[in-house]
Amino acid sequence: MLANPSLGDYLAQLKSKAPQEILEISTRVPRDYVITALALELERRKQYPVIIANAEGYSQPIVANIFSSRKRIADILGCPETEITHKWSQIEKNTIEPTLVATGPVHEMIYRDSDIDVTRLPIMQHFDTDAGRYITSGIVVAKDPETGIRNLSYHRMQLKGPRKFGISLHSRQHLFSYLERAERLGRHLEIAVMVGAHPALLLAASAKPGIEVDECDIAGAILQEPVELLHGLTVDVEYPAAAEIVLEGRILAGVREPEGPFGEFSGYSTSRSTQNVFEVTAMCCRRNPVYLSIVPGPAADHLYLARVAREAAILKRLKEKIPYVKDICYPKSGVNFHCYLSIERAPEGVARHALTLLFGLDHYVKLAVVVDEDIDVNDEEAVWWAVATRVQGDKDIIIIPRLFTIPLDPSSERGMSAKVGIDATMTEDFRKEVVVCKERPQDLSMARDILKQSELFTIGR
Ligand code: MN
Repeated sequence: MLANPSLGDYLAQLKSKAPQEILEISTRVPRDYVITALALELERRKQYPVIIANAEGYSQPIVANIFSSRKRIADILGCPETEITHKWSQIEKNTIEPTLVATGPVHEMIYRDSDIDVTRLPIMQHFDTDAGRYITSGIVVAKDPETGIRNLSYHRMQLKGPRKFGISLHSRQHLFSYLERAERLGRHLEIAVMVGAHPALLLAASAKPGIEVDECDIAGAILQEPVELLHGLTVDVEYPAAAEIVLEGRILAGVREPEGPFGEFSGYSTSRSTQNVFEVTAMCCRRNPVYLSIVPGPAADHLYLARVAREAAILKRLKEKIPYVKDICYPKSGVNFHCYLSIERAPEGVARHALTLLFGLDHYVKLAVVVDEDIDVNDEEAVWWAVATRVQGDKDIIIIPRLFTIPLDPSSERGMSAKVGIDATMTEDFRKEVVVCKERPQDLSMARDILKQSELFTIGR
């Protein structure tokens, strides 16, 4: 009957195919801080396992750090790591519409009215500087108050009581527009918050298509089957039947209350918030739900989840206008504010054209580097080698002062930021003058063969 895979199905599959990618903690851990600290410490050690843990006093297992590995994201999308951006554009081209079903696993347990107590979920405090306990994986499902088109998007949610959360719509995208219009019509905005589902749904919710596209269609394309939706019990919103936990309720019109501070992707604790309030009208879950968390702050889990769809969307739009553009990377060190582009050999001025178009397309970007095609944009050292050897600061850097930006950049002033573009491509004169050192191809392939037989080596004993 029900075909959509669950988060549990994904974890079981990972456990059988790649058990080394899971770190399962056998002792109970404190609910707050520890899992975040563990994920960030593992990251410093260049280890990116999925973390499964149980918190003291809670029955639901906690799962975190699924998206910290680009390889794992590629596996979920069904492509090699180098093909993620290309695969994503195929997915957005071949969407599959969801279907409505009458019943599903997320309705196994239903709580209403005074039976609702979200404090019983292992919602954790992540950083000392946070205002309290936060849901970080919550996907808000809502319908456009005028067109009825569904939207899925992430919003930080601060636990405020058994049936109440603070929520921020600071990215000011589709849900923000839904609420603005609902308020104008004098209505609360009915929503359903999905906490935990198959990773395909989480990747789809990170997509940034036009406001006319339902992210469930994108989830269908990743799963290669329609997403099965259940109608809400207390709200006029449909949500995935295979979810772990769903909180139904409404964002209150005309109500604002302090929310935050919270440790954001920028690496800073910030109170910048739209200060909305979410009131829960029903809590639905599986009989034994898994509680999914996304490691917040500048963690790979958070940044890599946001990166896939962003890179694909921006690359597509750049290529439409400038076919010379080849590849794109939002490096983790730049927390969505930095972007590297590569272009094939092009007439003078094209690199700077690409830079200005990029700043227009993505208001998060405040520093961008354009390199030649011989540089792998995913290799940060190579990008900065190009800057070191191909850039003259008086000719190759453009600065556009005071453009609209994301307010979560702590250095921004009144919502504006300067945009810096570095043209690290070679000029034609430069190409005539210099020769790049290169290994002979046959020697390189022999070196790679040697490395393949890695049992010949003992490293770091
Ligand atoms: Mn949307």
